[in-house]
Amino acid sequence: MSSTPYAEVIGDPIAQSKSPLIHNFWLDALGLAGDYRRAHIKADALAAFIDQRRKDPDWRGCNVTIPHKVAVMDLVDDPGNIRGTIGAMNTIVRQRDGSVIGTNTDAAGFYAPLAEIDLSGAPVIVVGAGGAARAVLFALARAGVGHVTILNRSPLKAMGLLATFGLKGEVLGLEAQLPPAALLVNSSSLGMTGQPPLDLDLSALPDDAIVYDLVYAPLQTGLLKAAAARGLDTVDGLDMLIGQAALAFELFFGAAPPEGRDEELRALLTA
Ligand code: NAP
Repeated sequence: MSSTPYAEVIGDPIAQSKSPLIHNFWLDALGLAGDYRRAHIKADALAAFIDQRRKDPDWRGCNVTIPHKVAVMDLVDDPGNIRGTIGAMNTIVRQRDGSVIGTNTDAAGFYAPLAEIDLSGAPVIVVGAGGAARAVLFALARAGVGHVTILNRSPLKAMGLLATFGLKGEVLGLEAQLPPAALLVNSSSLGMTGQPPLDLDLSALPDDAIVYDLVYAPLQTGLLKAAAARGLDTVDGLDMLIGQAALAFELFFGAAPPEGRDEELRALLTA
């Protein structure tokens, strides 16, 4: 009996995820048999979910979103030492032998839109200290950024991240006055549909600063609107979403996404 391979995205909440649209668009475009779904998995069901899925030979793996990116590391193999580097996993892949490995495609997806910009020594601001912030800080540390200001609700968590990634900087509360910076990244869930807004006073940022919001639901967040109103360059969450998905797609389905279809995909994602 033939069976259909499938992958999925897991999280809590999960209705906002656009990953099924992306992966199913690529599966259709390539004419590959396969399916990509979303699964609403609460924290207390995560271990049982991985245990059940690892027995299913049709399951190719899953993407992992809020709030499981750190917890899932305890449940899967880690041949790439993601635990010791980024410290958060967003992609879980089932091997043919039934073993399940975790990796992280967020860091490369995040950095892709910044690749042409010289950030070495540049002061940056990062909002958030969760799983996505880990990928962001890992990528920024590799880019050699200078002083890093992290704004987060839980300051201790953020201090730990500065130390983990060997970054020099400080931790402030969400209500703090921003210092000048070349780049401001929102990697918190603030501003996402159903979450409180992220209200920052951007007046201290220089005119050539870039504001990058990882939140993609909605795509034009309050932060990006405020940045555009100030005339600042902005990067929305879709580039990273598509970039991290492309790497995961290849791991799940063994083929690279089709070339030259990004405009069509962006239109689908913003419809
Ligand atoms: P996470 O691990 O749950 O971390 C959430 C972060 O948001 C933490 O810093 C948390 O602060 C903060 N936060 C949540 N609710 C808050 C509230 N009510 N008040 C103040 N702070 C709050 O989530 P994540 O996986 O890092 O994801 C964060 C965001 O990035 C989500 O919107 C996600 O969709 C987005 N994302 C986008 C992409 C993309 O490809 N564009 C990829 C990954 C993630 P505490 O530390 O104090 O709890």
